Amino acid sequence: MLIRKIVEKALDGGRLSSDEIAALFSTQLFSYEATLIQSASRRMSEKACKSLAEVHAQVGLDIACCPRNCRFCSFAACNKVFSESVDLPVEEIVTRAREFESDGANAIYLMTTAQYSFEKFIEIAQEVKKSLKPEPILIANIDDFSERQALQLKDAGFSGVYHALRLGEGRDTTIPPEKRLKTFRNAKEAELLLGTCVEPVGSEHTIHELVEKTIITREAQPVYSGAARRIPIPNTELAKYGAVSEARMAHILSVVRLALGYEIPGNCTHEPNVVGAVAGANLLWAETGTNPRDIEKETKGRRGMSVQQCREIFKEAEWGVLSGPSQFFSTSKTQVEYGTIIKE
Ligand code: SF4
Repeated sequence: MLIRKIVEKALDGGRLSSDEIAALFSTQLFSYEATLIQSASRRMSEKACKSLAEVHAQVGLDIACCPRNCRFCSFAACNKVFSESVDLPVEEIVTRAREFESDGANAIYLMTTAQYSFEKFIEIAQEVKKSLKPEPILIANIDDFSERQALQLKDAGFSGVYHALRLGEGRDTTIPPEKRLKTFRNAKEAELLLGTCVEPVGSEHTIHELVEKTIITREAQPVYSGAARRIPIPNTELAKYGAVSEARMAHILSVVRLALGYEIPGNCTHEPNVVGAVAGANLLWAETGTNPRDIEKETKGRRGMSVQQCREIFKEAEWGVLSGPSQFFSTSKTQVEYGTIIKE
């Protein structure tokens, strides 16, 4: 299969088949064709977001020995990383959200483990919402939720959710894949916009699995997808695979970008890095509080980057950064506007 033809098809707005996506993933790193893929990915990302990248910022609310036991997560009970629970006090959560607001984050996420009380989460979200200016966009990153809970999230002021059907879901986690997909549908029913990602990528994942998850994220009609690598948690079963290099992740996120098409404006990568941004990642995350990839209770100043550091990365990658609320998480009208850009 001619890689150039597949790339041209994607750039012309064509929907790539699973075989075509597999051919792109299989392309040898640093070959002429791989460079072509990354260049096209960057071009598509720029066109899809009017050349303005975004920095989103996440506050991790708690640490708990989580019974879902996702093997890549430092909160998983089976990984025995944390022996005590942590719950950030509401005042602290509000302070951190306000810091992100004044730092210019385009959207603010509240993240919890699956152990966190949903009712408490809603109460905290309402406090955060009240303390912020009207503009900031609030996103929930929590356990699977029901249709009724999706409506409660919407009422509490969330514009959307981050949710993913992860690589190895049901194998490296105890969560049935169908449950994750049902949460996608529940969010959509409640008009919560979805952010998702092909994650957490490890060196053992096959091309077949990468293609499958890429197509699932495309079909979920999110405002962004992308690719993020797994961070090895020391002394755990998955740590033996190490971490996929940033260079390889840049290739993977480029393929995801071309498979998503222009209608999905965002293409994220995590953790933030210049190579990924050069290759077409137009969304990076800052983090504070708890972090499922960290073995320290507080990720700020450690694994978690600041909004300013993410902006610096975009600057090094020659991206402009949006000022103001996230355009990715704006209403569906924005999606139509993005559609207009494509036809220019
Ligand atoms: S990823 Fe979420 S659900 Fe899975 S173990 Fe970690 S906190 Fe629990």
